[in-house]
Amino acid sequence: MSATVPDKEAVDLLLELGGDTCKICFQCGTCTATCPWNLVRDFSSRRLMYKVQLGLIDFGDEDLWTCATCGACVKRCPRGVANIDVMRALRKVVSEVGAAKVPDSLRLSVKNIATVGNPQGESEENRGEWARALGVKPFTPETEVLYFSCCVPAFDAKIRRIAQSTVEVLNKVGIDFGVLGSKERCCGESVRKAGAEAIFLSLAQGNIETFSESGVKKVVVSSPHCYHTFKNEYPEFGAEFEVVHFVQLLDQLIEEGKLTFSGEVKKKVIYHDPCYLGRHNDIYDEPRRVLQAIPGVELLEFPDSRQNAICCGGGGGRIWMDTPAGERFSELKLQQAIDAGADVIAVACPYCMLMFDDSVLSMDKEGAIEIKDISELVLEAI
Ligand code: SF4
Repeated sequence: MSATVPDKEAVDLLLELGGDTCKICFQCGTCTATCPWNLVRDFSSRRLMYKVQLGLIDFGDEDLWTCATCGACVKRCPRGVANIDVMRALRKVVSEVGAAKVPDSLRLSVKNIATVGNPQGESEENRGEWARALGVKPFTPETEVLYFSCCVPAFDAKIRRIAQSTVEVLNKVGIDFGVLGSKERCCGESVRKAGAEAIFLSLAQGNIETFSESGVKKVVVSSPHCYHTFKNEYPEFGAEFEVVHFVQLLDQLIEEGKLTFSGEVKKKVIYHDPCYLGRHNDIYDEPRRVLQAIPGVELLEFPDSRQNAICCGGGGGRIWMDTPAGERFSELKLQQAIDAGADVIAVACPYCMLMFDDSVLSMDKEGAIEIKDISELVLEAI
């Protein structure tokens, strides 16, 4: 990373936007040692903190876009530095004073979200098409639960199976639910981590207004990214609805005896902790309890799991950026899963599914291992 002397205005803005947390860093290097990027390439969070402290930041450095906001460094920093806030502030400054440096693929996805409410750039009108095909009813004020699928299952035909299996399970257990279809917008979690704060605020305010006007009191989500931002970030802007990730609901239904199994899944299943369910929200036990409740499942663990889990590489807006072969965490984990003898990697996040599905293809592992959402495994055994 080449150091340069940026203008004082940009550095002041960086500190003002949340980057000032780096001031307490005492350069121990724990973050760099913890960061999964150093399993595949050089990336020094410690060095970045130091350069921000000195005001010596190269706003054109591609490493400003590397962090996947997995949170491993934040959990371990002995000084309590919020490294992710520094990354977010750096990206905000680049977006505000030097937009030409934002990676092209990220800029396109963010532009799509700003204009049509989804990263794929699909028509807003088509957001509810997957639900209409399944006969899911529109949400009304009398409906108990809003199911919010996330943009990826809504528009990506390969990942749609998450929303489809979730809907089938909800129907089988008799939960009264509906969808808002074209009224929804992207939750904005990754947009915010990518530094596009104004767009995030617009998305949050729009969704909160829509949910409020529609009479939503409880939202069930498939994505830990939607979960995180709805639960931890939207309340600051007036959100008052309850937020539940689907694995939490499944765990509760099994506990209450409302979800029982008549079939089985005789497979070795290894669970991948999504960063935004695990490290960011401490939800580790619920998905494991659900998988262990499925008759026939033999639950395996990755060498690093729970708080130490290696991320899929799709957080922090990285889902929309290219990662060179050999530097993809999902490829590393796919190989770990195969080496552990797993038949299936169980995921609880559309981003993780997208990353792992891509890796199955890029590593030519079709037939060697399957990638399944927990909802799919549950549905197979009901
Ligand atoms: Fe600084 Fe914390 Fe990283 Fe140590 S772990 S170098 S204190 S940011």
